[in-house]
Amino acid sequence: MTTYISSFSAPGHPDRDLLGGKGADLARMVQMGLPVPPGFTITTAACRHVLAEGTRPPGLARQLERHLAAVEEEAGRRFGDPDDPLLLAVRSGAAVSMPGMMDTVLDVGLTDATVAGLVRSSGDERFAWDCYRRLVQMFGETVLGVAPERFTAVLSGAKDRWKVTDDTALGADALREVVESSNAVCLEVAGRTLPQDPFDQLDQAVHAVFGSWQGERARAYRRRFGIDDGAGTAVNVQAMVYGNHGPRSGSGVAFTRDPETGEPVPYGEYLPTAQGEDVVAGTRTAVPLSRLHELDPAAYQRLRSAMGTLERNYRDMCDVEFTVEDGRLWILQTRVGKRSPAAAFRIAADFAEEGWITEDEALLRVSGEQLTQLLSPRLDEHSAGSEVAAGLAASPGAATGRLALDSATAAKLAERGEDVVLLRPETRAEDLPGMLASRAIVTARGGRTSHAAVVARGMGLPAVCGVSDLEVDLATRQVMLAGTRVLAEGDVVTVDGTSGRIYRGRHRTVPSEVAAWLEGGTTADSPVVAAVARLLEHADGVRRLRVLANAETAADVRRAMRLGAQGVGLCRTEHLLLGERRAYVEGVLLGDDEERTRSLQSIADLHREGFALVLDAAQGGPVTIRLLDAPLHEFLPDVTELALRAERATDADRAAALRSRLAAVERFHEANPMTGLRGVRLAILRPEIMTAQVTAALDAAADLRDRGRAFDLELMVPLVSTVGELEAVARVIAAAGDEVAGRRGRVPYRFGTMVETPRAALTADLLAGAADFLSFGTNDLTQLTWGLSRDDAERTFLPRYEQEGIVRISPFVTLDRDGVGALLATAVARARAVRASITVGVCGEHGADPASIGFFENAGVDYVSCSPPRVPVARLEAGRAAV
Ligand code: ADP
Ligand code: MG
Ligand code: MG
Repeated sequence: MTTYISSFSAPGHPDRDLLGGKGADLARMVQMGLPVPPGFTITTAACRHVLAEGTRPPGLARQLERHLAAVEEEAGRRFGDPDDPLLLAVRSGAAVSMPGMMDTVLDVGLTDATVAGLVRSSGDERFAWDCYRRLVQMFGETVLGVAPERFTAVLSGAKDRWKVTDDTALGADALREVVESSNAVCLEVAGRTLPQDPFDQLDQAVHAVFGSWQGERARAYRRRFGIDDGAGTAVNVQAMVYGNHGPRSGSGVAFTRDPETGEPVPYGEYLPTAQGEDVVAGTRTAVPLSRLHELDPAAYQRLRSAMGTLERNYRDMCDVEFTVEDGRLWILQTRVGKRSPAAAFRIAADFAEEGWITEDEALLRVSGEQLTQLLSPRLDEHSAGSEVAAGLAASPGAATGRLALDSATAAKLAERGEDVVLLRPETRAEDLPGMLASRAIVTARGGRTSHAAVVARGMGLPAVCGVSDLEVDLATRQVMLAGTRVLAEGDVVTVDGTSGRIYRGRHRTVPSEVAAWLEGGTTADSPVVAAVARLLEHADGVRRLRVLANAETAADVRRAMRLGAQGVGLCRTEHLLLGERRAYVEGVLLGDDEERTRSLQSIADLHREGFALVLDAAQGGPVTIRLLDAPLHEFLPDVTELALRAERATDADRAAALRSRLAAVERFHEANPMTGLRGVRLAILRPEIMTAQVTAALDAAADLRDRGRAFDLELMVPLVSTVGELEAVARVIAAAGDEVAGRRGRVPYRFGTMVETPRAALTADLLAGAADFLSFGTNDLTQLTWGLSRDDAERTFLPRYEQEGIVRISPFVTLDRDGVGALLATAVARARAVRASITVGVCGEHGADPASIGFFENAGVDYVSCSPPRVPVARLEAGRAAV
């Protein structure tokens, strides 16, 4: 016969899957010797049986009888006894905590007959009727499905009639009326009232708690957090203790340490003369825990001592639900407590310092997600302002500024010393100057890997992207939301990139002290900063993955190095050829011989100087220069504009030149630029740009060598699909190398390729034969593996997919292990089979995603490369992945 019930006082290690979190922790507390009212847990197996079969499992009734008898014995009262009734709490509790999602019924066992017994045994009529009205209400809500507002209305009606403001001021007569009215509500809504047989009550309450697993709320919560629908909940049946029994009683919640700051002092709230959820319901104002210290020092001391016991056993900060009945302390629940990101770091470091846990364990108790939040300026929640719109939380942090609707305006406002928020339909390469001048970015279109999002994260600017129904009317300089004018250029707005919300007006923001310390501005003297420092140092000591940065300018590289980067894993040369420099690429592609030569020379000069600065700023660490990769249309002039200019030209020669340029641009026109003439394809068609870039890189390295500076140069080819491409490019690069060697002696470099098409991944063994290293561009690889556009999908259909649980999270945020991850793992294995020592890196946005780094560690990746602000997060996660 299966056992479906386990006593709280059963010996042995409690099984969370079977007993649920609450039940297992209650059993643990009994084992620690803490004062827990007697009770037992009906297991999740019973729930699963009920959900599957629709009937009570065989034998459950008999087991229930036996365990109930044991509780009666221990409590010294009998359930249903008309003289001195034992009352029960029937409490849900799944294995994975689902706060507030399921139900609890208290005071089970009260009937018209037993309430009289409770009056006699307690000598307190008011108390007994308070319990009874609570039971009718909770039973009504949970078992009979009556809306809670109906009972709230009954209660406020009674308070009005008796002219009192506080529940506790309602006397026995008033509460008797409340019971009657509440039963009347039950009858009206559900066609029945509270059963007058205590055993009926118990059976129905247990069943309702099982059923609450299938409730709408609980299902939605599980979908959102990816919890198994089949697990079921346990039900805890426990003797009631009475916090509502007069002024020497009460109930409260407490944390063993401050959950907001992590400070090692108890924190909590207490409400005298209260039962159940009164403390959190906010009907009456609870008092700080320190008040309990004054009201009942003995009970407070026992609580402190229980907290110490809990911390020693859980070796972590715990939260506690407790009740004081006539001065006697009872612990009703505990669990490892939720905490703010700052508290997480402080508590982990303190527990390590106090010797309760190892540094490795401390590292596992914090996350990159939490560090990301600690690094961002926060929105001060107390400063008011109304929300205007919301979109994708594309880059964390908060900032306030005046709205600018184009790059030029942004730059102009910034020059006047204004803080600026740039709002665009979407951003393109030419918006970069405006983005640089801004404190935050908002775009109507685009997902979390759109240009705006990637650039904003790279710069550490807050950004909200993909605000649907948002339109920018550049003619009237207004912003419309679903057709209504909501903002105008120049308005002050606040952008919260952590939540994806945009507010009207100025909100206070709080700068991050951790960021200030990491950037080298301050010393680590606040406890939270010291904790972050300690755990980051440990992460650096244990991690195998190297952490590099995606950076193009010396300033960014220096910043990345300050944040702990070990070099540059991705220097995107197209970023160095934007803005006005775009014309050089255009000149090479479309110009006559003279213009082409001039443009190539400009590219070479510009790169030689820029690369030398970047190589130098990396302090001898590796720098991977990726040869030009941008969809062609980003470098070519706008066709419409060109046509207009040709038409307006008064000079005939000029008009002819413009027309011929127009024809040239049109020859390059592509329907799908993202899968068009990009990367290596352009390099093969027009090798001269690549030659100029390679020559500049080698010359820059030689310049550094001549100055006695260290450098470590890598050249990388983007968007390769077949080894044939790689070989063709290798020949051109080798020729450039020979040419430089002739002038300046051999300059050492390594040659590698991006892996960002599925075909490249599948033929990584062939690529490995021709390359010193492979670097996975997981953004493009995801886009091409799924066959979706990263610029559109997060706006058009992925949110719906996430809502419906078709995908758990956008594959652009967290690496899709089953698809893209499988390709990556296959590629690594195939490449290493050919060349065991080949270096493998990841340089996509996933490089710093906390949920993806563990996968890269297991796949045998050697380094991740991410935008500078995310470097500390990657270091931490790489450490976590290694322990
Ligand atoms: P939740 O999972 O929502 O926290 P609980 O099962 O902990 O639900 O019950 C909610 C509240 O009911 C508790 O915080 C406590 O105040 C009260 N409660 C639970 N069990 C008992 C009990 N045995 N005696 C008195 N009050 C109880
Ligand atoms: Mg609880
Ligand atoms: Mg790419």
